Amino acid sequence: MSDFRIETNCVQAGYKPKNGDPRVLPIAQSTTYFYESSEHMAKLFDLSAAGHLYTRISNPTCEAVEAKIAALEGGVAAVLTSSGQAASLMSVFNICHAGQHCLCSAALYGGTFNLFDKTMREMGIEFDFVDPDAPIEEINALFKDNTRCVFVESVSNPSLTVLDIEKWVDAAHSHGVPLIVDNTFPTAINFRPFDWGADIVVHSTSKYMDGHAVALGGCLIDGGKFDWTKDNKYPELTTPDESYHGVIYTEQFGAAAYGTKARTHLMRDLGSMMSPENAFLLNIGLETLHLRVPRHCENALAVARYLEADDRIEWVNFAGLESSKYYERAQKYMPNGTCGVVSFGVKGGREAATKFMDSLKLAAIVTHVADARTCVLHPASTTHRQLSDADLVACGVSPDLIRFSVGIENVEDIIADIDQALEKATK
Ligand SMILES: *Cc1c(COP(=O)(O)O)cnc(C)c1O
Repeated sequence: MSDFRIETNCVQAGYKPKNGDPRVLPIAQSTTYFYESSEHMAKLFDLSAAGHLYTRISNPTCEAVEAKIAALEGGVAAVLTSSGQAASLMSVFNICHAGQHCLCSAALYGGTFNLFDKTMREMGIEFDFVDPDAPIEEINALFKDNTRCVFVESVSNPSLTVLDIEKWVDAAHSHGVPLIVDNTFPTAINFRPFDWGADIVVHSTSKYMDGHAVALGGCLIDGGKFDWTKDNKYPELTTPDESYHGVIYTEQFGAAAYGTKARTHLMRDLGSMMSPENAFLLNIGLETLHLRVPRHCENALAVARYLEADDRIEWVNFAGLESSKYYERAQKYMPNGTCGVVSFGVKGGREAATKFMDSLKLAAIVTHVADARTCVLHPASTTHRQLSDADLVACGVSPDLIRFSVGIENVEDIIADIDQALEKATK
């Protein structure tokens, strides 16, 4: 798709101005498009000509950013969505319907878990959740005849599990179904799931990809290698779609069948498109992704090392530490780092954790993670506050767990802030 390396693609891929065009990607602030003939418009409606029809389906600004993200991940097509949640929903619903089954890693973002376990169950889809570190025999035993896809996170939020992707690709492919990977935390800078055999990638672009906490968004990327025609498991891709005059996606769009259907069918019907203005903001974020992500990782490693050596700290979880159970796996799959998020417990439990957070000056208490500014969250007193201590432990969030998203400020300032807050929290 592109001869350039990933750093160049962050800056240059996507928008290709012609003679006299604006140098910077313009915002196509238009819901609709002009045609010289009704015949041309009819062809667009039949998907027999390429072009924009209505911004609910595609838009020139979004299209340029989609091309950039496809290049970063090494996929054949990308679809921007209004949020990461919309991308996760579409990634499964594009190929898995009422009466069918999706197997998931249990180490998932809480919002994704709710989407699957509540809302999509109500739509009639079955889900099973399994420890991502379970032996492959245990994972294989959970596939059923009606399993249509597998959904995992490369580095999970907030538990920071590093996925053994080779094991999961093997499990999915030996059952003839695609592996969908949420790659939000590492981003394509640290990890490219398609290079390891994954089939579909999703992102919450609201995190590192935007990087400045200004634009909510998501993205769905088609790796273009999965054979949808094998075993007739995916008739939605291999038999005529009557809502587009009998288009057969695998015949007309080849490698991009899945991605094209996600746009022309699901985006048309669900309407969860990213706005052109948010796509413009996301593109500016992407132009520096290759500079920011390494800095996040470098700062996070320094913070993790500092915490590990401090006797006011009960435990630290960060895959870049040699003491982490994910160290070897992270070195194999993500040698340049996993992400900038560190989790840890302060001695003194829930009470000390709250005092620590309230004493921070540079790090801000927010719900968000993964942007330029250092931020912090204590799930037990906020997002998970309705749970008892026992329930918290059961869902992998210990009462003292602090999720610390290390920003790109001067790391000495971040550590000094942690130090003074620990002083107040533990004396
Ligand atoms: C935040 C997040 C999501 C959801 O994305 P939104 O843009 O908030 O809808 C999905 N997956 C992961 C790993 C996330 O961190």
